[in-house]
This record gives sequence, C-alpha cells and structure tokens, in this order.
Amino acid sequence: MLHSAKNLLTHMSRRAFNQQIGKAAGMMALSASLPAWPYQEKPEKKLGVALVGLGGYSTGQLAPALQQTQYCKLAGIVTGTPAKEKIWSEQYGIPHKNIYNYENFDTIADNPAIDIVYVVLPNAMHAEYTIRAAQAGKHVICEKPMAISVQECEEMMAACREAGVKLSMGYRLHFEPHNQEVMRLGQQKVFGNLTFVTCEAGYQIKDNWDQWRLKKALAGTGALGNMGVYAIQGAINVVGENPLYVTAQEFKTKPEKFKEVDETVTLQFEFPGGTVANLQTSHNARMNRLYAAADNGWFELVPYSPYQGIQGKSSEGALALPQVNQQALQMDDFAYYILHDKPTRVPGEMGMRDVQIIEAVLQSAATGKKVPLKNLAF
Ligand code: NAD
Repeated sequence: MLHSAKNLLTHMSRRAFNQQIGKAAGMMALSASLPAWPYQEKPEKKLGVALVGLGGYSTGQLAPALQQTQYCKLAGIVTGTPAKEKIWSEQYGIPHKNIYNYENFDTIADNPAIDIVYVVLPNAMHAEYTIRAAQAGKHVICEKPMAISVQECEEMMAACREAGVKLSMGYRLHFEPHNQEVMRLGQQKVFGNLTFVTCEAGYQIKDNWDQWRLKKALAGTGALGNMGVYAIQGAINVVGENPLYVTAQEFKTKPEKFKEVDETVTLQFEFPGGTVANLQTSHNARMNRLYAAADNGWFELVPYSPYQGIQGKSSEGALALPQVNQQALQMDDFAYYILHDKPTRVPGEMGMRDVQIIEAVLQSAATGKKVPLKNLAF
C-alpha cells in the first residue's frame, strides 16, 4: 500500500496540517507515520454520488465533504421535500435531471451521472432504499446501523450481489488517523496482549421528544443502534477479533420519554484471545471514549468519535496525528475501490455483523443471559 502526507493534505488545509504538526512536535509522538492510504494517482473521472435523505448528516457533513473528494462528487439528490430541491440545486449546482423524489427514485437507473447512491435516511428505511438503489444498478453506501434486522441485512446484501454492485457502510472512523493508529496498536499487539477495552459513545437527548430516533418503527433501537454501533466497532476494531459472547443490561431512567426504544445500554464482550470489553451507550448521557489496557501499556482516544477533534495518547505519549475530513476520505476510498474493482474495507458484511451483535445484545438484556455470537457475517 502506498501512502503519503500529500494525500491527507488534499483533505485538510495545509495551515491546519502545519498547526497539528507544530503542536505535535512538543509532544512525545508514539508514531509519526500517517495512516495507510491506498492511492496516489489522479482519477480519470469522478464518480457521481446521489445523497438520499437531506437531513442533518447529509447537510452538515456529507455534502460539504463531497466538495473535497478526489474520486467522487455530489451529482444528485433524492428528497421528499420540494423546497430543498431549489436550495440544494443552487448551492451545489445540481442539475434538475439529477434530482429525484422517493416516488420516481427508481428512474435513477437511467441516469449515467449517478454511480453511487448514499442512503442517509432513518434506519428503518435503509433496507428499502439500498435494495431499490441496487436494483437500479447503483453502488450503495448505507449509513449505520445497516438496517433494523439481520433479515433486512441479508436482503440488502442479496440485492447488491444479484445486481453486481458494491455495498459499503458509512463507517467513517476507519478512515480517521487516530482510530487507524489504535487499531494498529491493538491488532499488532504493540503493547502486548490487550487485557481490557472500554468504549463508550452517547449523548443526551434533552428536547425534541418526537424525533424518529425515539420511534421503534423508524429507528429499530434507541441509543444502541445509533451511538452503540461506535462502541461495538471500537472494541472489535482494536482487538481485531469478533467477540465470542455478549452479556448486556438496559437501564431506563426516563421510561415516559424512552417508551419505545432503549435509553442506556451497557454490554460486555468476551473475545477469543482473552480480552474482555465493557461498552456503554446512551441517549441520556454524554460519553465519548475508547481505552485499551495491554500487558505492557495502554492507549486511549478522548474524544473517540467526533467528526473533528479526536485526540489520543498512550502509556508512551501523545498520538501526534492530523485531523482530517473523515467523510471525504471514506467516500473517496469507496469510489477508488469501485474504479479499481476491489472490495471496500467497510463492506455490507461488516454492517450486518454489527446488526447481528445488536440483536444479541437486546436478547441478553431481555433474558439476563450471556448470548453466544455465532455465524457472524464478517
Ligand atoms: P435527520 O433526522 O437529520 O434526517 C433524516 C432525513 O430523512 C430527513 O431529511 C428527513 O426528511 C428524511 N426522511 C424521510 N422519510 C422520513 C420519515 N418517515 N421520518 C423521518 N425522516 C424522514 O437524520 P440524520 O442525523 O441525518 O441521520 C440519517 C442517517 O444517518 C441515520 O441512519 C443515522 O444513523 C446516520 N448518521 C450517521 C452519522 C455518522 O457519523 N456516520 C451521523 C449522523 C447520522
């Protein structure tokens, strides 16, 4: 794999990079290496991405990130809100022929300007729009959680397989340098065997009690399928193994607000190599940390998963790594792998594995029993 600081610089301003490096110079750097990045060459063409669902994440993160990508660009939108068509069309120069609504979405099959459909809808809509996009012959990026059931994940993967299109997850942290570094530290046992991992991801809902994230029919689960996915991913990514067992507990302190879905969940993984993980997620508490204890040291990320500002250190010093545009790198990576007909590093199978784990967590929380994690998809 080729990699260089130059590639990262395409996704962050040179000034910001210099500031990072300047700050880092005063700290003891565990690793000066930049994350592995697979490509150097200029693309022959940028693949066209259509965002489906123009809510907070598309508006605040994905569309701006698509202004920084090298291998793909914002080419189309799919929205149920006509007022957004004009706003987005003007802001991003999207031609009328590349604007769809949920009814005429399937005609996107006839549009060669769209190569990738990015599904950024409430969780319960991921399966339908992934399958419709695949049947229209488009590659798909699906936001997390992949779906609200394992059954749906299977149908999504089957649709993509049958259509011969690639399916990837919106797992942006796989493209973030601090997260890549702790994966390396854990998986390569730089500090020896990992003995214990803690990972937590949550925020507090204080108002807007009508939002879809609190409705089972649209969200599937509460905090677990939302921020809990980061906690699950964090532990598995640094250990580099799938867990053998999960035990889980759910706590509701505001049952009148969290009527339909979980509020706070804690869970424990037992890994085949002996590592134990204790994870937590909540829609009623702020938490954002990854910590790993090893035989000969430790490392942590605090905060672990925001879009910007991730910081890390280890028993040997600070992790001196740059801030990047995670979403731009994530989408470029997928586009690059489509252009080179290679598999994505965050495939649908990984998303399905996490939904399998979510179902096991819910089972354990409901029964109070340890649940074996068998036949995981990834
Ligand atoms: P949001 O509520 O801000 O936006 C949802 C969009 O879906 C809106 O444009 C809304 O109009 C549309 N929509 C269509 N049908 C709807 C319906 N029946 N009910 C409600 N909305 C409907 O949500 P968001 O924060 O943009 O999240 C969208 C998806 O992206 C979720 O799956 C979420 O988990 C994921 N997400 C991922 C990240 C990440 O860092 N990877 C961050 C935020 C959100």
